[in-house]
Amino acid sequence: MNPDSTRLADVLLPLALEGPYSYRIPENLTLAPGDYVSVPLGSRTYIGVVWALHSNAPASAKLRDVITRYDMPAMSETHRKFVEWLADYYVEPKGNVLRMVLRSPGAFEEPRQQVAYRASGHPSRRMTPQRQRVLDVASEGFAMRSAELAGAAGVGTSVVKALAKEGALEIVGLPSLKPFQAPDLNAGGLELSRQQGAAAQELRAAVASRSAKVTLFDGVTGSGKTEVYFEAMATALATGCQVLLLLPEIALTAGFISRVETRFAAEPAQWHSDMRPRERERVWRSVADGNAQIVVGARSALFLPWKKLGLIVVDEEHESAYKQDEGVPYHARDMAVLYGAIGKFPVILSSATPSLESLVNADRGRYAHVKLLDRHGRPELPEIGLIDMRAAPLETGAWLSAPLVDTITATLAAGDQALLFLNRRGYAPLTLCRACGHRMDCPNCAASLVEHRFRRNLMCHHCGHMEPTPKACPKCGVEDKLVPCGPGIERLAEEAARRFPDARIAILSSDLARGIFLRDIIRDVAKGDYNLVIGTQLVAKGHHFPFLTFVGVVDADLALESSDPRGGERTWALMAQVAGRSGRGEKPGRALVQTHMPEHPLMQALKHGDREGYLAQEKLIRENVGLPPYGRLAAVIISGSDPAETERFVRQIASVAPTGEAVAVLGPAQAPIHIVRGRHRWRFLVKAPREVNIQAFIRQWLKDVKPRGSLQLHIDVDPYNFL
Ligand code: ADP
Ligand code: ZN
Repeated sequence: MNPDSTRLADVLLPLALEGPYSYRIPENLTLAPGDYVSVPLGSRTYIGVVWALHSNAPASAKLRDVITRYDMPAMSETHRKFVEWLADYYVEPKGNVLRMVLRSPGAFEEPRQQVAYRASGHPSRRMTPQRQRVLDVASEGFAMRSAELAGAAGVGTSVVKALAKEGALEIVGLPSLKPFQAPDLNAGGLELSRQQGAAAQELRAAVASRSAKVTLFDGVTGSGKTEVYFEAMATALATGCQVLLLLPEIALTAGFISRVETRFAAEPAQWHSDMRPRERERVWRSVADGNAQIVVGARSALFLPWKKLGLIVVDEEHESAYKQDEGVPYHARDMAVLYGAIGKFPVILSSATPSLESLVNADRGRYAHVKLLDRHGRPELPEIGLIDMRAAPLETGAWLSAPLVDTITATLAAGDQALLFLNRRGYAPLTLCRACGHRMDCPNCAASLVEHRFRRNLMCHHCGHMEPTPKACPKCGVEDKLVPCGPGIERLAEEAARRFPDARIAILSSDLARGIFLRDIIRDVAKGDYNLVIGTQLVAKGHHFPFLTFVGVVDADLALESSDPRGGERTWALMAQVAGRSGRGEKPGRALVQTHMPEHPLMQALKHGDREGYLAQEKLIRENVGLPPYGRLAAVIISGSDPAETERFVRQIASVAPTGEAVAVLGPAQAPIHIVRGRHRWRFLVKAPREVNIQAFIRQWLKDVKPRGSLQLHIDVDPYNFL
């Protein structure tokens, strides 16, 4: 080899870097694009991915060597393109996107080198509280690796090592990762109705076309969409491809997982944030080597290192849980469509209440539109009635009107199940002092504290701050004058217990129980062990409660009051989904909605079951003002710990905003919640017609803007959160 030239690898690292860094490839190493390697940077080593190779590069003494190549299938070209395109779309450094792929560093460890620790039964000779915590965790029975065990006990790994040296922990070799079973494509398919069969045929054809075709699969709740898209999954699996089934919320969907398992006679791989590290490694590796053929996952499953993805099904595609706001803000539904376009495979978007974005894409002919109009075995959605709250006065401290109470009484008396829906966690959203008028606010945020009575504290829903509910007002010192104002789900449960003393009440709210416990309650509700369910939006998500015949919506106006341009659309979806929980079994369902605005077009549309009419009107409004999907939006959010410094920075950014004719920069304005975690927040909103490259506009605008000190700048393309 010519001594003056070297083989170089450009390696992308999982850090906030715009592009890859160059490294020399040592003589004994052969690399290909997509290979996972370890490389030095500063005093550390990182796992990175080979982005490009140069064979005859000029030697530079400054460059460092690649350390090793991992024994792992290379990242596919499709996946690398996905990382690049996503970074480009969201105006985000590529390395930050790669970090979302490399979420399971343990997957790179040599399996045979892995050891785990387990309590030996011998006590430690020098017990400390830290050591005790480790032994407590270790005696739960699972063998855990040192980092995992230390993490669970909240101590450093040195404590684990010390206990092992003493013999209080014993070392066990970890068994190799268990492979996933291959699915049996003909295992558990139901006999489809004629309409379902026709829909399945269309979806199968889309999959068989092996093109980047997007299908909006639009069918009322309970029409059997799941059964039908299982058929499309079987078709994709038959061609040897992997299939991803995305769900908005996976931790609670044990019932759903078992349906997938029954259909394909194999447990699918699952991916979500609440997994043990070892299971993460198992799934990550199995997706990389192709062993995991079906993955059911939350939004981040898109970033798994797919070997050969051939179909993505996005269930409940309208769900806002697909949008991530922290870190790299991305929308998993949109990125699923992008992945399909890059990988040239089909994507199915399934929903009973499709987003306006997807409906408009279907109208424009960009998406195929497959409909399933009948409820399986039942032709209609539940009937929805309105209760005019202006004419149905409430008793003080009560939130259920007489018609609602009467209907629930009758439902329970008939031996059926009823659901009360209120989208507000906690006991009361406000706490005021009756002596001086003081409001209990968060010390870190411009927001009031929410009382959580079960946990006996006041909590901020923005930063997590908690404090015990005080006896005396912190402002005037008078005791026993703090009063809760307004209802939350716990307060509603209190009223329900008073009004329906014989009811077996279940409360479903994400903050009241952890995953496993909630899963148990959901299962018991489905079995009919409870007859009155009180829930937040958690209950709206896809659960199948066959004994539920009545749904009462306590406050339908809540979501309409927000400044969110999608407020109406969201309320529509939420109401239809919640009402759709009823009547999924033998008996028909019914819903009653409490509202102060019964004449509001949305309430009228609910009452008349007129989805098309309501959405047509929403489309018209959005089109007239150029809001998505008829125009583009991007938010630029600036925050800093010093109010004056933050405002100066914001004004400086405003002064360099380009004045494009088509593009409008709205703001700067203080964010509606203008302080979060002690940081002062400002927002710009960039609004542009669809054909404008809004990303290029933002890049141009902010290219010389450098936030310093405590200042931070976030770009949110296609924002869903306006707070
Ligand atoms: P969706 O996903 O549209 O809400 P599901 O697929 O969950 O609807 O179906 C609702 C219920 O109807 C489920 O319990 C499902 O097993 C049942 N079901 C759907 N299609 C059929 C069928 N062809 N034969 C028997 N049961 C069916
Ligand atoms: Zn707070």
